[in-house]
Amino acid sequence: GRNRSVFYNDTLSAQLARDRRLEADFKTSLAYGEFELHFQPKVNPSGICLGAEALVRWKHHQEGIIPPIQFISLAERSGFMTDLGAWVIRDACRFLRRAQDRGLRLPDRLSINISPLQLADDNLKATLTDCLAEFALEASRIELELTESALVETTAANQELLESIRELGVSIAIDDFGTGYSSLSYLQNLPLDVLKIDKRFVDNMEEPQGEQLVRAIIQMGRALNMGTVAEGVETQRQMEALKRMGCDQFQGYLFSKPLPEDKFLQWLAAGKR
Ligand code: C2E
Ligand code: CA
Ligand code: CA
Ligand code: CA
Repeated sequence: GRNRSVFYNDTLSAQLARDRRLEADFKTSLAYGEFELHFQPKVNPSGICLGAEALVRWKHHQEGIIPPIQFISLAERSGFMTDLGAWVIRDACRFLRRAQDRGLRLPDRLSINISPLQLADDNLKATLTDCLAEFALEASRIELELTESALVETTAANQELLESIRELGVSIAIDDFGTGYSSLSYLQNLPLDVLKIDKRFVDNMEEPQGEQLVRAIIQMGRALNMGTVAEGVETQRQMEALKRMGCDQFQGYLFSKPLPEDKFLQWLAAGKR
């Protein structure tokens, strides 16, 4: 009805106005240190933390904490993503150095989410090599998570870039595997190390078909010599079932939510892994 369409337009324009405000704040927020990485552990079948994923948060001076789902695509549309992405890479490396200086070799490997726009950017490899050098880190400490949809759209130039990044010793994971409605042919052409099973498959594991699907994904990962990581693991039952199927690593609220840097260092030091 009439009222509803007015309401809809109001929310829509309020949303657009907010997006424009946030967009205008990106650069100064970055300069003022309003972006922050949180870290979520990944554990092996014995519960030992081997890796972690870096997830960005925006601590906006007026709006409070803004989750990435509310600003990543805005950053991509407004041309800010490569700056933000470079900051994420540098801050992830800075964190690994800080942990190591405290005597923690953990997490052995830190995963960084990479937007498709960063893959199209010539500076990605230089950013990685510069940050690894600045913080004196081995390249094997870093893993890039690329969504399946980004990988499917990979051009020949991107493929070369991925290959040269992998030659550095950085590993590459497919994020959100199985959600991109894509053919599997990219698995043959690209240098990939890890397959991340999307949360929605883990959520459906209680159903017989869902369980078979996860089993098949894990078997495919193994057949292709890729490690498998299940994301969104929330219950002991899911963990046990995934373990039996041969999944290599597990990530989810069952072990820990993403934590701010100091909390994560405490979590590691407490050996809750
Ligand atoms: P993603 O890469 O698939 O990250 C997993 C998301 O699932 C994270 O949400 C994480 O907090 C959440 N999660 C982890 N375990 C559980 C669980 O057991 N249960 C539930 N319900 N959720 C769980 P978050 O941090 O809000 O990030 C959302 C998305 O934003 C990420 O999805 C990623 O696509 C994007 N993102 C986050 N940080 C960055 C970044 O630095 N760069 C880029 N390009 N994208 C990022
Ligand atoms: Ca991810
Ligand atoms: Ca994911
Ligand atoms: Ca996901």
